[in-house]
Amino acid sequence: AKQEETRQKFISDISHEFQTPLTAIQGFANILKDEDLPKSQRQKYADIILFHSKRLSTLSKNMLQLTLLEREEVELEYTTFSIVEQLSRVISTQENQAILKDIEIVFEKPRKDITVNGDEQRLEQVWINIISNAIKYTDNGGLITIKVKKTSKEVEVSIEDTGRGMSKEVISHIFERFYRVDKSHSREIGGTGLGLAIARSAVVMHRGAIKVFSQPGEGTTFTMRIPLNYVA
Ligand code: ADP
Repeated sequence: AKQEETRQKFISDISHEFQTPLTAIQGFANILKDEDLPKSQRQKYADIILFHSKRLSTLSKNMLQLTLLEREEVELEYTTFSIVEQLSRVISTQENQAILKDIEIVFEKPRKDITVNGDEQRLEQVWINIISNAIKYTDNGGLITIKVKKTSKEVEVSIEDTGRGMSKEVISHIFERFYRVDKSHSREIGGTGLGLAIARSAVVMHRGAIKVFSQPGEGTTFTMRIPLNYVA
């Protein structure tokens, strides 16, 4: 019954999330039909339509990722790879966004390389989601520190930001699908409220753990622990 309830809520959330961009697209497409519209306005409305259709595309991509992860029968594709190299790659793809906000990303690399046996693509998505959030929810001039270390059986990745932080109440909801503290702001900056749900599912599928420590106004640290080797 609980599962059915969750499913129903997911479906009603989805239709709600799709409704806003669709309404905007329909509205502005209608305005564009007016042949006397000045060119500048035509451009502006076309941009709004583009913005909302990109949003729909991100939403459906994220939803697909999440449902694929949560389907029990889906198996991870295990390979052995360097998690240090993987993090470096993800950081370099995120750096542009950070530079735009004058945010510095410091990656404290371990002296020795660390390899893990895991699903490379799915773990990459975890780092992308958490690092892009750190950039999104940190003000200009902030700092993001990424650390990776190995324990006897696990690798621990921590991503710390000097951003807006979260209260205990907020933290208790952030892994829920579609949960966002500030819906309209999150939408504007491209959020779907699915990023952390996706990250957590991927970590849990690896039999790992994801923890968050945060102080409102001070910053947030996400810590992910992933077993070094496949655990059946
Ligand atoms: P979104 O697409 O809105 O970023 P997520 O599932 O990735 O959705 O995150 C859920 C919510 O958690 C965000 O809307 C934001 O309010 C909060 N959040 C996530 N990461 C951080 C962070 N590093 N600092 C502050 N708040 C965060």
